[in-house]
Amino acid sequence: MICENIIIGSGPTSATIADKLLKLNKKVTIIDIGNTIEKKNLEIKNEYLHTKNKKEFLNSIRKNKILNKYKNPHLKFPFGSEFVFQKNNYENFFGPKNLDYILSNAYGGLSNIWGTMVSPFFHKDIENWDIGFKDFYKSKSDTENIIPISSSKDNLEDFFGINFGKDHKFKLSNPAKTFFENMTKKKDFLNNNGLFFGRSKVAVGNYYSNNNVECQECGLCHYGCPYDCMFNSSQLFDIIKSNKNFLYLNNKFASKIIKKDSLNLVECIDTITKEQTIFSSKNIFICCGPISTAALLFRSNLVKANKVTFKESQRFFLPIFNKNHIKNSTSQDKNVLSELYLEIYDKKLLSKSVHLQYYSFVDIFLKPLEKFFGKYVYLFPKFFPFIFGRVNLLIGYLHSDYSNKIIMTSLPNQESGKYQYSLSFEKNELVNDAVNKITSHLKENLKEDFYIFNNLTNINLTGASYHYGSSFPMSNSSDSFKDHTNLDGELNNNENIYLLDASILPDMPGHPTTFNVCVNAARIINDLNEKGKI
Ligand SMILES: Cc1cc2nc3c(=O)[nH]c(=O)nc-3n(C[C@H](O)[C@H](O)[C@H](O)COP(=O)(O)OP(=O)(O)OC[C@H]3O[C@@H](n4cnc5c(N)ncnc54)[C@H](O)[C@@H]3O)c2cc1C
Ligand code: SF4
Repeated sequence: MICENIIIGSGPTSATIADKLLKLNKKVTIIDIGNTIEKKNLEIKNEYLHTKNKKEFLNSIRKNKILNKYKNPHLKFPFGSEFVFQKNNYENFFGPKNLDYILSNAYGGLSNIWGTMVSPFFHKDIENWDIGFKDFYKSKSDTENIIPISSSKDNLEDFFGINFGKDHKFKLSNPAKTFFENMTKKKDFLNNNGLFFGRSKVAVGNYYSNNNVECQECGLCHYGCPYDCMFNSSQLFDIIKSNKNFLYLNNKFASKIIKKDSLNLVECIDTITKEQTIFSSKNIFICCGPISTAALLFRSNLVKANKVTFKESQRFFLPIFNKNHIKNSTSQDKNVLSELYLEIYDKKLLSKSVHLQYYSFVDIFLKPLEKFFGKYVYLFPKFFPFIFGRVNLLIGYLHSDYSNKIIMTSLPNQESGKYQYSLSFEKNELVNDAVNKITSHLKENLKEDFYIFNNLTNINLTGASYHYGSSFPMSNSSDSFKDHTNLDGELNNNENIYLLDASILPDMPGHPTTFNVCVNAARIINDLNEKGKI
């Protein structure tokens, strides 16, 4: 089959490119493994929309008990389904116990389970990149048109210098509101100490929602949004599937990219019939997520080195405790995603900024205790609201300069006949000191409202931010020995083979990457169009 533009994958990056190419009147073919949610799990969602019975919804999900064999106890299983995490029959990835990473073979990729957190990068964190801040964000409105963002104008705009999206249509919880008001009172003091704050920016809105509703504050965000207010790239694909220039091919595992004379080919295996097919295309855009993208490039002999190195943004947890009791802090209906962002930039502490997400108490905090107390653990906050209502969580993310790295190598195929890859990590001695400095800084600045203890900080496993990439960093470099991409994401001078996912970010700043990766992908398509390359 001969195509114009093949995109591999159906996550947010792919959706951004597909939408952009179709708007430019180009033909698009998507090749995707594309696992979908089971019918019985979708029924749980539909039943909720019908009855609005939250207790029944949670019971139906819990009946379908999933043994959490994953390293993160807080993972989301949308409507009780594991489909996002299903492996394929062609690849094996091996890693040590203390490394966390997640791949998806789903229709919509990891956007089925992401936290929807969105933020610009801090300009100083990317000033060493070969692309300027303004240029990087020049196509942001293309992305804002397809990904709804709730994002109020506040002190964060003073920090970032730009904003995304539109004002929030849902309220803050009582603890978040109190925290926000207290910080607002001492804004100048905090800003002088390099601490900026504001409402979290989330990819939540009514672009694809049931009956066009805005967030209903139902609190089910960690179980699957029944109203489809949380952005998932499959929502956009469901719409563009009717475009006559668009072809979506699922159940296709992209096994190799082959360069034959001036032709670019994708070799695929049908995951149901096992049939092999070859597609030829002028342009190939690879958007499988950094680890699966590197695997595909390894088996296509498109990696020069014998290993691929991923940068990561180290994640850490810091529980903080309200000094005062705040009314209804455990019983209020609310959107349970992160409610506030704190941004720290102070050269005396670290040379890069640190991003923190604030969560007021939510039942998912108790999930790790389920193995000891069963479902009764969820009754505790009802009996002891004075204790649980004071618990809040900050989740912090460091820049990749202060984080470990993930290393991937390709192993020879063994009897299993599967492609085999090994993952390991390389320690960065700066992690502990950086986390300690940030915790002490927070303690000093938030001491009027919260009890904060350095020894309660939990530095998460390498990879647990799920913000890894920079494996084929985009630059103006012409170093022919290094694996890299140019500023259009074109790989190692392989004409018309583009990587557009997080593989090409030069670093992994502490801020959530996905929306930024999409903005960059839209910029690249616009640039390629101007250059007449697509
Ligand atoms: C628990 C969790 C929470 C997260 N929260 C956030 C957050 O709040 N904010 C944020 O910015 N980011 C978050 N992320 C990261 C975010 O989900 C990813 O960065 C984003 O989904 C990446 O999009 P993508 O399009 O590059 O690829 P992915 O979403 O990874 O999708 C990959 C696609 O490629 C396809 N594919 C893979 N291999 C092949 C192959 N060989 N052949 C054919 N198809 C293939 C898959 O079917 C899939 O469609 C989170 C991630 C996790 C795991
Ligand atoms: S609270 Fe969460 S699950 Fe409920 S509508 Fe809002 S975003 Fe969706």
